[in-house]
Amino acid sequence: MFGYYFLGDPPLQFSDFSLDKRLLDSLKHMGITTPTEIQEQALPIALAGKDLMASSKTGSGKTLAFLLPAMQRIISTRALSKKDPRVLILLPTRELAQQVYGQLRLLVANTQYKAMSVLGGENFNDQAKGLAREPHFIVATPGRIADHLQQRHLFLNGLELLILDEADRMLDLGFAPQLKAINDAADHKRRQTLMFSATLDHQSINDIATTLLNNPSHVAIGASYAEHKDIEQKMLFADHLDHKQALLSHLLKQPENKQTIVFTATRADTERLASLLAEQGFSTSALSGELKQSARNQIMDQFSRGQQQILVTTDVASRGLDLINVSLVVNFDMPKFAEEYVHRIGRTGRAGAKGVAVSLVGPKDWQSFLQVQSFLRKTFEFSTIDGLAAKFSGLTKQAGTKTVNAKPKAKSATAAKTKQKPKVAPKRDKRFITGVDVGDAPMRRKAKPQPIIEQENKGSED
Ligand code: AMP
Repeated sequence: MFGYYFLGDPPLQFSDFSLDKRLLDSLKHMGITTPTEIQEQALPIALAGKDLMASSKTGSGKTLAFLLPAMQRIISTRALSKKDPRVLILLPTRELAQQVYGQLRLLVANTQYKAMSVLGGENFNDQAKGLAREPHFIVATPGRIADHLQQRHLFLNGLELLILDEADRMLDLGFAPQLKAINDAADHKRRQTLMFSATLDHQSINDIATTLLNNPSHVAIGASYAEHKDIEQKMLFADHLDHKQALLSHLLKQPENKQTIVFTATRADTERLASLLAEQGFSTSALSGELKQSARNQIMDQFSRGQQQILVTTDVASRGLDLINVSLVVNFDMPKFAEEYVHRIGRTGRAGAKGVAVSLVGPKDWQSFLQVQSFLRKTFEFSTIDGLAAKFSGLTKQAGTKTVNAKPKAKSATAAKTKQKPKVAPKRDKRFITGVDVGDAPMRRKAKPQPIIEQENKGSED
């Protein structure tokens, strides 16, 4: 679409864009010289002041694709207002916002501009005082900014650039009213808007884009289901909770592991599994949405500095977090939405490093597994760990609406050698026949039935 150089030409460098020397110096300082694909495509559009709607796969460098044009605009143009923030960057979760804020701080450090983060869970009055100091850049979660707007702690009449990252996730979390309120507060002709989303083909994304963006250019770098060459994806059948735990322990003991992120379906499971792993001697922390922000920060900080080997979490950590030492991601439970699978596995294989993503697929995960397959347009083969092979081998639909245990189809060298065949047909599990009891629900122990645990409240970020 944008042919900046021809085959055989040297690759484009950041110095080929009209970026301020201070920005080029900061990039040099970060060891970054060659733009990634999304940067190459988004930068010219954003630097030209045009609205942009972009999708790009996780870990592709999209943060700099919007931060660099934002910085350049502020450095090179006169402010519309002396008091109002000039750039507002919105993200769905506090962790993502902090990560973007971290990169922004590196860029503003070299300039006279002030940046501030405004996140849910932090002290509201302290934020009001910070806003009174008139920062040029704000990185925020939408709920909290909408609250400050309502309290008239900030005005967006002079906002020059509105950036929405992970816009699809913000909509999933129910932030559409806040986004509309923010848009209304900054509704003037000279505003530029950049919107990034894992996918651009959802109706809700298009609806909000119509409201927020003005004749945007579109950039899509690799479909969201594109294969990530640095991540090896493995599927393992699992029979029940104890079996999943045994598989997990085995995976965690592999000597090549650096750090691991384990994703569970609910907050309660996160805590339970983290304690269990700690009891087994693994250095483990648990991160879930209901923890206080300071606790969440501390956990992420310690994990990113390598102080823990394992982070057990829900989808709160599935997006965008840039943790370069994660060599293994385990889906202890399959995610509810297929797209979330892509984000989860994207926590490994970052910045050119190799990673492995293993999913434990039990009867309750089967439906989600099928959704992931169809989303990725890929048929997975199952692996087996010696001594930990599952009896479960998938569910097949039979005549009518019944769903029953499928024929075993796991592939393993040992299994092939010994040609193990089940002597009796696998027993039907009535729970799954209705086809209702599937998906992201956590597995329960057979011996001790437990009360149903509340699902993760995905709308908890404010
Ligand atoms: P992001 O997709 O924005 O989360 O970026 C993922 C990682 O890639 C971050 O650690 C960035 O610092 C790094 N990164 C971004 N742009 C580049 C680039 N052009 N060259 C090398 N690394 C980059």
